Amino acid sequence: MKEELEQLLELQNIDDQLGELERSKVYLPDMIKNIETDIQSWKEKHAKASEELDKLNRERKALELEMEVAQSELKKAQEQMKAIKTNKEYDALTAQISSFKEKISGMEEKLLETMDEIDAIKEEKEEAQKKYQEMENNNDEVLKNLNREIDSIEDKMRMKEDQRKNITTRLNRRTLSHYERIRKGKGGMAVVMVRKRSCGGCYKQLPPQMVQEIKKGDRLLTCDNCGRILLWDGDESQ
Ligand SMILES: [Zn+2]
Repeated sequence: MKEELEQLLELQNIDDQLGELERSKVYLPDMIKNIETDIQSWKEKHAKASEELDKLNRERKALELEMEVAQSELKKAQEQMKAIKTNKEYDALTAQISSFKEKISGMEEKLLETMDEIDAIKEEKEEAQKKYQEMENNNDEVLKNLNREIDSIEDKMRMKEDQRKNITTRLNRRTLSHYERIRKGKGGMAVVMVRKRSCGGCYKQLPPQMVQEIKKGDRLLTCDNCGRILLWDGDESQ
């Protein structure tokens, strides 16, 4: 009997591992997806900043050109000032000059603003690039390992299924079907240890006589509350 109880425990171990492998079919690809999504989002930030930077640089160039034109017009007007003959001409030219100056100073202000924006966006772009490159470098090995792990799931499961078959073919039919039923009904744990003279699954106190019998391990005993198969783990101190 002791051997059968040990086999049941071994079976439960294998079933736990199979359950974990089954879950890993979902969570491993999820982990990969999360890493890739993170990297992708930084790449998108980088691309957006690049685009914005190009746009700002184009604006800056256009502004600089406009300013050149305005400055040469100003210069022309200032030249004309020397050949002025009437007060009326003088007034008109003075107004024109001050309007050019105003226009130029407005453009200078706009240019400074654009330069500030360019600096800020440059920083953003560099940070995003640093971030995704760092993530790609750091996660390269992680992703490789995760992919390797995913590739090996089926093999591992086949191996565990073989081990499982090895045990189930040797187990008593009734014991096995009891195990399967409890495992299904309780969502895992069909074999539990006695803990503090109670069932390790539902914590119901066990009669002393029963604890003694479980200790002996001569026959399969189940908790009359939850139906789990009870085992003694050899710890006499409890
Ligand atoms: Zn119980």
